[in-house]
Amino acid sequence: MSEAENEMVFDVVIVGAGPAGLSAACRLKQMAQQQGQALSVCVIEKAAEVGGHILSGAVMDPRAMHELFPDWQQRGAPLEVAVSEDEFHYLLSDKKGIKFPHWLVPKPAHNDGNYVVSLANVCRWLAQQAEALGVEVYPGFSASEILFDEHDGVAGIRTGDMGVSALDQHKSSYMPGMVLRAKYTVFAEGCRGHLGKILLEKYQLDADADTQHYGLGIKELWRIDPALHKPGKVVHAFGWPLSENGATGGGFLYHLDNNQVSLGLITDLNYDNCFLSPYEEFQRFKTHPLISRYLQGGERLAYGARALNKGGVQALPKLSFPGGLLAGCEAGFMNYAKIKGSHNAMKTGMLAAETIFEALNTDASAADSAAHGGANLIEIEAKVKNSWVYQELYQSRNIAPAMHKFGMLLGGAYAFVDQNIFNGRLPHTWQDPVADFAKLKPRDESHAIEYAKPDGVITFDKLSSVYLSATHHAEDQPCHLQLSDTEAVPRDNLLRFDEPAQRYCPAGVYEIVPSEEGESRLQINAQNCIHCKTCDIKDPAQNITWVCPEGGGGPSYPNM
Ligand SMILES: Cc1cc2nc3c(=O)[nH]c(=O)nc-3n(C[C@H](O)[C@H](O)[C@H](O)COP(=O)(O)OP(=O)(O)OC[C@H]3O[C@@H](n4cnc5c(N)ncnc54)[C@H](O)[C@@H]3O)c2cc1C
Ligand code: SF4
Repeated sequence: MSEAENEMVFDVVIVGAGPAGLSAACRLKQMAQQQGQALSVCVIEKAAEVGGHILSGAVMDPRAMHELFPDWQQRGAPLEVAVSEDEFHYLLSDKKGIKFPHWLVPKPAHNDGNYVVSLANVCRWLAQQAEALGVEVYPGFSASEILFDEHDGVAGIRTGDMGVSALDQHKSSYMPGMVLRAKYTVFAEGCRGHLGKILLEKYQLDADADTQHYGLGIKELWRIDPALHKPGKVVHAFGWPLSENGATGGGFLYHLDNNQVSLGLITDLNYDNCFLSPYEEFQRFKTHPLISRYLQGGERLAYGARALNKGGVQALPKLSFPGGLLAGCEAGFMNYAKIKGSHNAMKTGMLAAETIFEALNTDASAADSAAHGGANLIEIEAKVKNSWVYQELYQSRNIAPAMHKFGMLLGGAYAFVDQNIFNGRLPHTWQDPVADFAKLKPRDESHAIEYAKPDGVITFDKLSSVYLSATHHAEDQPCHLQLSDTEAVPRDNLLRFDEPAQRYCPAGVYEIVPSEEGESRLQINAQNCIHCKTCDIKDPAQNITWVCPEGGGGPSYPNM
């Protein structure tokens, strides 16, 4: 601690203990050790424990892991289940589907050499490596504010206050937030980071980038009948049920170890029918025989959801600004064609670390790190452009826009030609300039969708699902789902769109209830929020801003 109470000073502060943030931290300390230098690095994580808010598929491409820890196997990294079978299906209806031969599957979706993992466990392991290298990892604290210096550069972050009531008063448990100053701050909050959104706007980082697009992934973890379990088996499917309602996306089912499977449905958030519910579509997906045959007699263990980026290389913002860098899905390095982002998150975290380490060694003012933030490290752009991350994103740049343009089947055919015949070298780059929220059609232009009642065996209601996410927020705190307009816009959303938040939120946070005057009003059950960020993305009026609740609040995912 410095003299000022609640203030700590580091060379580098990293926001987010996901694959990007933790890889940045490890790489920084590795380089410092190699050079025999002292370097203070701290990682702030809003989940109560590292991994608690990590939700992914996940099939992991180990390329970045090989680079960060060439001896990861000896160190016991939890990449233990190698992909053993790799299936790709197009679902025609609720009963039928076609299995594609491996050669017809677009190359980026091949999984040879990959591992079925729990990304949360990979992060827990990365945090152990980081701590062993001397990184200070602080879970249970959300970075709620960016500190700007007198030159308008970033000089660190402030963590949120604890023990503040919903009426903004200090409770007996009040603890003021900590000021964490740093020469450089890496923002690695994942998709649609709340501080990242402020940085994009303040520094106009995405002014020259195409529109970012998103998907919502809803996932469950099941323990299944051992006779049906095939460790390392990977199943991907697209088409039904989303195709029936004019939407795109795809489902997955991955066999982990211990008779567990993870399964989920990613709904592209550019869908237009305001009556569509990604949650209910996922319930339908599970009833297809391709999926339900594994779940019979099984037990659902965990539930969760998280948004992911789909914009690819066209939508990448500038990565640097005075005193800081963006890394991982905060910037949008997810490769949608591969349905993978964890390897790119790790690699871009490492590249951020290398850029900062070089700057700290050449910048004469580095010693006065407490006074102000560092330089604008534009060198990061060249580093990323010359890396395999950029190469693979560039190669698959047209896949997501093709799906938007042609739908899943024709878009899939395009992906085959583009990737397997031309290796992503077709001379055009497609764009989709319409933001996902702007695609939503009003109720009178959308057709109603009747979803079946849950059977309690394979399909479930939202509340019992949220229960399985082990979500907890301290009672009586300011609402972290902030509406710019609390009355007119919700009223308009209700009239025009039948308040779509009722359906796109996978945790039942937004409810329409009768008001005292006998009308309908929007009720926000913020305590159920599982931090997926969809409301911040899909609200047609862009009236909702997700901000960090009190540190430690949110889901408590096990091995998601
Ligand atoms: C359903 C689904 C399936 C996927 N499948 C795969 C797959 O099979 N393979 C693959 O490689 N990738 C997959 N991905 C993508 C992959 O999960 C991401 O690319 C990866 O997690 C991004 O890593 P990250 O470190 O950038 O962000 P994240 O993993 O999102 O980590 C960010 C961390 O920062 C924390 N944080 C955020 N804001 C703050 C704050 N203000 N203060 C403190 N802490 C904060 C979060 O709690 C979180 O722990 C999938 C994603 C989803 C949603
Ligand atoms: S309130 Fe928003 S961020 Fe929270 S679970 Fe619902 S859609 Fe996701």
